[in-house]
Parts: sequence; structure tokens; C-alpha cells
Amino acid sequence: MNKQRIVIIGAVALGPKVACRLKRLRPDFSVTMVDQDEYISYGGCGIPYYISGDLSDIKELMSTSFHMLRTPDFFEDAKDVRVMTRTRALGIDRRAKTVRLRRLDTGLEEDLPYDKLVLATGSRARRLEVPGGDLPQVMRVANLRDALAVREKIAQGQVAKAVIIGAGALGLEMAEALGDLWGVETTMVEIAPQVLPGVLDPGLARMVLKNLEDHDVTVHLQEKVREIRAGEGEHALQVVTANRVLEADLVLTALGVMPNSQLAADSGLAVSPQGGIVVNPRLQTSDPDIFAGGDCIENTHLLTGKRVYFPSGSLANRQGRVIGTNLAGGDAVFPGIVGSFTVKIFNMAVAATGLSLAAALAEGLDAVSALVIQADRAHFFPGQDLMYLQLVVEKMTRRLLGAQGLGSNGDALVGRVNSIAALLSRGALLEELSNLEVAYSPPFAAALDIVNATANTAENILDGFNRTVDVAEFEKCFLTEQAGDLVCLDVRGAANAAPYVDLFGARWLNIPQETLKDRLAEIPADKRLIVVCNSGVRSYEALRQLETAGLCNAVNLQGGVAALKKSGLLGSEEKEDRD
Ligand SMILES: Cc1cc2nc3c(=O)[nH]c(=O)nc-3n(C[C@H](O)[C@H](O)[C@H](O)COP(=O)(O)OP(=O)(O)OC[C@H]3O[C@@H](n4cnc5c(N)ncnc54)[C@H](O)[C@@H]3O)c2cc1C
Repeated sequence: MNKQRIVIIGAVALGPKVACRLKRLRPDFSVTMVDQDEYISYGGCGIPYYISGDLSDIKELMSTSFHMLRTPDFFEDAKDVRVMTRTRALGIDRRAKTVRLRRLDTGLEEDLPYDKLVLATGSRARRLEVPGGDLPQVMRVANLRDALAVREKIAQGQVAKAVIIGAGALGLEMAEALGDLWGVETTMVEIAPQVLPGVLDPGLARMVLKNLEDHDVTVHLQEKVREIRAGEGEHALQVVTANRVLEADLVLTALGVMPNSQLAADSGLAVSPQGGIVVNPRLQTSDPDIFAGGDCIENTHLLTGKRVYFPSGSLANRQGRVIGTNLAGGDAVFPGIVGSFTVKIFNMAVAATGLSLAAALAEGLDAVSALVIQADRAHFFPGQDLMYLQLVVEKMTRRLLGAQGLGSNGDALVGRVNSIAALLSRGALLEELSNLEVAYSPPFAAALDIVNATANTAENILDGFNRTVDVAEFEKCFLTEQAGDLVCLDVRGAANAAPYVDLFGARWLNIPQETLKDRLAEIPADKRLIVVCNSGVRSYEALRQLETAGLCNAVNLQGGVAALKKSGLLGSEEKEDRD
């Protein structure tokens, strides 16, 4: 019998994973990987850390964990996989089962036969469609070549000021990369009203924005770039928005990516209106002899059942294994995604899974969110910091819909969010998170872990015990509109409350929670109350006491003063209260 011939187009994340898995299962198969680039099998997600200088040598992104460079020779020698770099796939003849290739260095073309074909063509960066968007100093970081060019430009001292267009995850990573090590004066322009649009709810996004500003990154939200033109003074470029002209030596565009599916579409494979290649759970395209995965396909969202585009290095690797198994004759399936994500922004980690509250509401789901702020280890353990975790739950069914959080201890945060992701993917209910078994030791967690505490808080909200307002509502009613019948009842100690009493006078009443039962008479019965403590826990206790005493016109500020400070409202985090 002839050897099965497997051809893989694309050799960065999905492609090599398919090739290696397949060769381990079926060493007798002939596997060829084709890529138009000269760099293959690199860790694209590490690019921001190469640009920042955290990684000194780009080879670190192209090496195995045992320090071997993943070059074409490495694949040939160690994996018995043939690699053709600088070779573009021009078209697929599905009837003849061949791929038309062009060698980019010589222009020579040839037809490569296959028995099974894998499309690992990834994504392409969205272009900035404005005048001047193609000037040479307008760059992006979509691959290793881009990364080399950007870092070289910065390292040569040519960049004092940079503008980053787009405040999604990549834009934020680049803001850190430019500012932290290179000291580049960085400004971001984002068309949406918040950073990390579509990923975080506005409340947490505001905390991320403050973190950027604390690290000297200027962010202009709700602004659209109209034009980029040559600079008139010492800086090469001017970025023009409706409101301002920004000087820059370098403009980085980070506008998101689109599936690279033209090859599939041209060969008649099913491609969705959004551009993602359509696959079945075995990751076969509409032609069963052609598989696809990674950034070029669409996935099924397990919470909504809809097809979504979710480019991710982790997905590409997991899907590569499924395809490799199936090519070897197995029957592996990829059920779908819940959309898990994390990013580091200076000293802050952000992570999310499932639907944000805004996304859930947009899906027509009747959802509610609960925010808990709690120490990321036992409150008595040295070095602890606050972790912020928000849960989204469907009201009627109590089905878990999503979680998002931030904190300085990224490993701890990601662990929590991943545990919730596992529950989401099997349609778990809130009570399962309340009772989720977690490991505990003071250096790593609190005795009641934040994942359990957040579920408990959501239960209390749904059961009507905890009536809440969030920071945005607080800002609107108490700070902006200054509603005359609204009073903040601060149930922390006098020292913590004093600056606010000074600031707001009679509108900020301080009665420590442990004295509340004896001082109920001091509470103005004709006012609405927002009960406040540092994190929302003692204020919940106070809310219950008030209600028992017949004072029902009160709500609890979710996240308390800690959330206000983290959002840049009322006070600074340096003087963090732990009362
Ligand atoms: C700067 C940066 C940071 C990132 N950070 C993260 C992160 O922190 N976490 C995360 O999960 N993901 C991250 N990603 C995304 C992640 O890198 C991608 O999801 C992953 O690389 C997708 O792998 P892939 O193999 O599907 O496609 P790609 O990595 O896009 O590779 C596709 C390859 O196919 C080649 N190709 C395309 N068409 C043809 C053709 N016709 N002929 C020949 N070759 C072709 C392309 O040139 C490319 O080399 C990041 C990406 C970037 C750029």
C-alpha cells in the first residue's frame, strides 16, 4: 500500500502540532508542511515579550523547551516531517487532490499531491483603511518578521513617541512593551468607549484603563483615526483624529485579526459570511479529505450555540492534536469553546471566560453579575493583594454564563478563571460553583476561596438578600447627579471613613458595622442609602441588619471603596484600607 500523503498548509501553531501528533501515531505517513514565511513553529504569543526586551533573543521563541531550534532541518531530522518554507499555496484542485505551490524565491510552481490536506493558514491582521495607513512607519506585530522590524526600530533609538491604534489585548501588551523597558511615550487611540471592548464589562475595563494611566500610557477612547500623515517637526508622523493631532515616530496598529480563508473559499469549501472556514466537530471542512483548525476556522460557542471567531494559540494547539488523531484514523472531536482569555498589562493580570454581562444581555439572556473583591491568599499571609472576580449568571436557570477578573497575581487569577471555564463548558449551575472543591493553604488562597465566595454572592443577589449597585451606578447617582435624597452609609472604622466624611459632609454617614445595631436611630429614615465598606462584605452584613430593622431603602455598593479606588474614583490605592 502507498504511504498516506498528508499536506499541511501553514506551519506556525496548528500545522506543527498536527504534524507531530500524526507522526507519533503513524510514523509511516508522509507529512509535508508548507509555509510562505521563512520562520516556522514559533511562539507568536511571545512576540510582545521579545519587543519589550524580556526575551533578548528571538530564537527563544523558535526553540523547543530543550533548546533546539525548530527549523525545517529539525522537523526533517527529529520528526521526519518535510518542510517547504518560502512556499505559497496558490490553489487547491480538490478533484485531482493537488495543491498548487509557488516557491517565492525562484517563482517556480509545482503541484503537490495529497491524500489528506490540512488548512492551518491562520489569520491576517485587519488593515487601517485611512489615508496614510500604509506609510512605512505604520507597523503591526502580526508575525515574527514584524516583531524583528519593530524591535530593531526601537532599539536603534528611533522611537521617542508611539501611537497604538486599538486597545484590545495585543494593543495593551504593546503599550506595556514600549513603555516598560524602552521608555517610549505611548498614546493609545480606541474607537470603542472602553479598553478590551467585547471582552470585559465596562466596570473592570475602567480599572484596566486606570492601570494604564498609572503607567503613563495616555488612552483616548471613542476616537477614530481619520488620517496618518508625515510629521512636520521632529517626529515622523501625525495621527489625526476628530479631536486631536498626535505626534509619533512609530504607529502600531492592533485592530484585531480575520480568518485567512481565501484559499478555502477559492477552492469551494464552505466559509461563513464572517470569513471563518466551516468545520464539523472532527474538524473536517465541507470536503471530508480536508481538515482545518486554529485561527482560520470558526468555532461553536458552547453557551450560545452560535458560530464564533476566537483566535487563540491554545485553541490552535488543542485542535492540532484532534486533527492529528483523526488523520491517523482516530475519532477525536473538538466540542467547541467558551472563550477563555488572559492578558498581562504591566503589574495587572486580566482573565475572562464565557460571556460578559454585556454579551449575555446582547444574546437576550436575562443575566446578572456579582463582583467580589478579596485577598488572593489568606488575609493574614504576607504579600497578599486584592483579586477582583465578577461572575455572570442567568437569573431564571441559575446557569453560569461567565467570569472575568483582575489582580496582580496572574497565576492565581488564571487558575480561578480556568476552573470556572471548566464548569461553563458543561452547563453548570451556580450552586456547583458555590460547592466547587478547591485546594487551600494560606500562601495560595483564602479558606473560602474567591470562586466560592463569588458564587455565594451571586446566590445572595438572586435570592434577594443582597441588593446591589455597581461603580458606574454609584458614580452616576451619587457623584454626578448628587441626588439629594441619597446618603452613603460607610460601615468601616472611623479612620477609613474620615476623608470621605470631610469630602461629602452630611451625604457620607459613618457608622461602623459592629456598632450599627445600637445606632440605628442615627440613620435618616427619609433617605435612600448606599451602604459602603472596603470590599462589599461588611456592607452586606449591614444591609441585612438594616433590613431586619425595617430600613429597606438601602443598597450595597459591589466591591466597595476598593472598586472605587481601582476605577480611579475617590482616593488612591496606595492607601489601601483593609477594614
Ligand atoms: C503578537 C501576538 C500575540 C499573541 N498572543 C496570544 C496570547 O497571549 N494568547 C493566545 O491564545 N493567542 C495569542 N496570539 C494568537 C496566536 O498566536 C494564534 O492564535 C496562533 O498563532 C494561531 O495559530 P495558527 O497556526 O492557526 O495560525 P498562524 O499562527 O497565523 O499561522 C498561519 C501560517 O500560515 C501561513 N500561510 C497562510 N496562508 C498561506 C498560504 N496560502 N501558503 C503558505 N502559507 C500560508 C502564514 O504565513 C502563517 O505562517 C497572539 C498572536 C500575536 C501575533
